[in-house]
Amino acid sequence: MESVMTRLWIANPLAVFAENAEGGIVIEDGRIKSLVQRGDRPPHDEIFDASAHVVIPGLINTHHHMYQTLTRAMTGAYSHELFDWLKALYPVWAGLTPEMVSAASELAMAELLLSGCTTTTDHHYVFPSGHEDAIDRQVEAATCLGIRVILTRGCMSLSEDDGGLPPASVCQSEEHILNDCERLISAYHDPNPFAMTQIAFAPCSPFSVTTQLMRDAVTLAKRHRILLHTHLAETEDENQFCLDTFGARPLAYVGECGWLDVPAWYAHGVHFAADEWQLLAAAKAGVASCSCSNMYLASGICPVCEMENAGVAIGLGVDGSASNDGSNMIQEVRQAMLLQRLRYGAARVSWADALRWGTAGSAAVLHRPELGRLAPNLAADLALFKLDELQFSGAQDPLAALIICGAHRADRVMVNGQWRVIDGDLVQFDLDRARRTHQQLARTLQTAIHS
Ligand SMILES: [Zn+2]
Repeated sequence: MESVMTRLWIANPLAVFAENAEGGIVIEDGRIKSLVQRGDRPPHDEIFDASAHVVIPGLINTHHHMYQTLTRAMTGAYSHELFDWLKALYPVWAGLTPEMVSAASELAMAELLLSGCTTTTDHHYVFPSGHEDAIDRQVEAATCLGIRVILTRGCMSLSEDDGGLPPASVCQSEEHILNDCERLISAYHDPNPFAMTQIAFAPCSPFSVTTQLMRDAVTLAKRHRILLHTHLAETEDENQFCLDTFGARPLAYVGECGWLDVPAWYAHGVHFAADEWQLLAAAKAGVASCSCSNMYLASGICPVCEMENAGVAIGLGVDGSASNDGSNMIQEVRQAMLLQRLRYGAARVSWADALRWGTAGSAAVLHRPELGRLAPNLAADLALFKLDELQFSGAQDPLAALIICGAHRADRVMVNGQWRVIDGDLVQFDLDRARRTHQQLARTLQTAIHS
C-alpha cells in the first residue's frame, strides 16, 4: 500500500511545553518532523490552528489495574488501608469474567485518552479460571481505541494457604503463568521503538508470589529482553511482611532474586530508604509514583525529588481505579505537584516538574526515549487542551494554568500521528455504549459477592 506522507502543521499554539516551538509542530508519518519557531511558516500539506490550545506531550501512565474500574467506591473497602482493602476486594475480583475485563479495559483506556494520556501500562494480575485470554482482550481494546500500551502479564501464586495474602481462587501455578507470558510475548510484543503494543511481566507483589517465580521472572526478562514490573515499598505493612518472611526489606529481597540485574520499574516506592535510592539508580530502575492512591490508602508520601536527584527515573501512575478512583492522568499530574509540595515546599516543586514526571519521566521509567517529549524524530503523541472552562478564567500563564487550575479533559489527543480525540470526544468509539455495558457488568460483579 502506498503510504500517505501528509505534513500536518499544528500552528501557533496558545502555549507549548517545549523550547523553540512557539510557531507549533510539524507532524509527518507518525513522528514529529520539526518544531517551528515563532513567526516561521514551515512547508505543510494541512494546517490545524492551535491558537486556542495549550500543547503538551501526550501523558504517560506507568501504573494501573483497569479491571478495578468495576469496583470503584465499594462500601466494604473504602475505609481500609492496603492489606485490609485488598482482603475485602479479592473475593469480589474472583468473580471477574472475560467480558468484564474487556469492558473495564475499554472504559479505562477511554478515560485515559480523554484526559490527555497517549501511552498507558496496565497491571492485570487476577486470573480466575476461564481467564486465559484476559491480556488478549486488553490488546484488542487498545487497538480499538488507538492508545499506545505496555501491558503487563501480572500474576499471583502465593495464596493465604502458603503464607501469602490472596485467596487460592485468584492464584495460578507458576508453570501456567510463565507459559502464558511466553505466549503473549510471541503474539504481541513489538520490541522496536515507536511500538504500539508491548508486553512486560509483572508478579503482583512480594506478598502474593513465590520467591521461585520472582527468580524465574528474571530469566524470562533476560531471554526476551522485556521489562519487569511489580508493586514495591508501598506500605510499612509490606516492609514488615518482607522482614518477617524473607529477613530482608522489599528492595533487598527483589535484589536477591536478581531484579536489579534487569530493567524493571516499581509501583509506589513510598518507603524506599536513602541507601536504596542509589541501588535503584545504579540498576536503572524506575518508580511509578501514584499520588492519589498513596493519599487514598494513607500509604505515605513518595520521596520523589530525592530519588530523582539520586538518578532514579520517576514517572506517574493513576494506579487501580479502586484506589484512586479515577483514571485521569492530567489530574494525577496536579496531585503529584500538590503532594510533593507538601513534602518539599512550594519553591522546590513546580507545575513543570510534575508535568515532566508525567511525560518524559514516565517515558524514561518505561525505557521509551522516543516518547514523552516534543522534539524532532520523536513520536507524534500530543495532548491539546483548551482553557475555556470556568476554572481557567483569569489565569495568566496558560501552561501553568493547565496544572494549577485543574484541567481534566483534553480537547484533542494525537497518538502515533492519528487524532484519537477530537472536540473532547473519542474518534470512532461509542462511549455511551461502553459506559452502559461497563455499569451493568460492574453491578453484576458487585452484587455477586453480597448474595
Ligand atoms: Zn497498583
